[in-house]
Amino acid sequence: VFAGIAQAPEDPILGVTVAYNKDPSPVKLNLGVGAYRTEEGKPLVLNVVRHAEQILINNPSRVKEYLPITGLAEFNKLSAKLIFGADSPAIQENRVTTVQCLSGTGSLRVGGEFLARHYHERTIYIPLPTWGNHPKVFTLAGLTVRSYRYYDPTTRGLDFKGLLEDLSSAPSGAIVLLHACAHNPTGVDPTSDQWEQIRQLMRSKSLLPFFDSAYQGFATGSLDKDAQSVRMFVADGGELLMAQSYAKNMGLYGERVGALSIVCGSADVAVRVESQLKLVIRPMYSNPPIHGASIVATILKDSNMFNEWTVELKGMADRIIRMRQQLFDALKTRGTPGDWSHIIKQIGMFTFTGLNSDQVAFMRQEYHIYMTSDGRISMAGLSTRTIPHLADAIHTAVTK
Ligand code: PMP
Repeated sequence: VFAGIAQAPEDPILGVTVAYNKDPSPVKLNLGVGAYRTEEGKPLVLNVVRHAEQILINNPSRVKEYLPITGLAEFNKLSAKLIFGADSPAIQENRVTTVQCLSGTGSLRVGGEFLARHYHERTIYIPLPTWGNHPKVFTLAGLTVRSYRYYDPTTRGLDFKGLLEDLSSAPSGAIVLLHACAHNPTGVDPTSDQWEQIRQLMRSKSLLPFFDSAYQGFATGSLDKDAQSVRMFVADGGELLMAQSYAKNMGLYGERVGALSIVCGSADVAVRVESQLKLVIRPMYSNPPIHGASIVATILKDSNMFNEWTVELKGMADRIIRMRQQLFDALKTRGTPGDWSHIIKQIGMFTFTGLNSDQVAFMRQEYHIYMTSDGRISMAGLSTRTIPHLADAIHTAVTK
């Protein structure tokens, strides 16, 4: 019965790794995947995560029962505190409902479906460009996806004027997806003055913010600084949605641990919103997995472990920043034509190089370097050892 089924294309991001795995070259380099690698090119399990797992394993009262539909209550509370701040008025006024979801993706999907069912304006504006999964997640959630200008290829910076124009002409009440920090794929974030203008415009038009926070702590190395944009929107007393992921900042990629928070107008509304979130989740996957959320809760609730985490997190963020400087210096040394200062200016895990799809294909063919076709490279996949190879490849690609 399935004989006539067509072969589906590979995922544009995950497919890069599929192609990389098939390449037998000893010098191959995977800069496609958004996962942290050590200087030796190895995946990293944080020491604090290993420590938390030991604590969990040694706890005899630990069971493997189902979690509630909304997940681990302690994890939810701690997650809201982490992103909104311990002294957040919205938390103190019990206006926030948080549900544990399957990492960032699952949080976006549950939030999207909730909005499609219960919110009056079903159009969501996403930045151009954005993480490739956003349009698919929100379309399948039942929303209509439109985009707003975000990145200006000529300046390799923010198209702030375009952004304001597009949000100004969005219908009142429309949902707007905002990357909380370390915008993927461009590495370009608004300044705090620009965030303030975005906030004023959005609130004046009753546009509903839906924040995606996949990189808290990865942009600057500070959890609080990376949450500034979100906290500005919470401080004005308005509503918003927040999708949080622990994939990158705790290195819990495969544990699929994240949270959706909805900041509501009152405690009473928050209770009703949560009851409806349960109706979205139950037929989708019943309830979320226990292990990853238990790791996160163990770390967040213990001040020593929390501090240990922030040090390891800053270590990852700093290594990425060093890779930016080293790549920039390597291109300068080679006299590679063009202004490469965006490599050191951009923020977070990725650099949007400005290489076009032909150059990307050339680098894959001739240098065995893998990246997404839009020229995005994961800085976390680089090391002092591999940077010369990448710099040679970029140099040849732009001068050939
Ligand atoms: N949002 C953005 C912007 C991302 O870059 C990612 C991961 N690449 C996610 C959400 C979701 O990731 P995960 O589901 O692994 O938490």
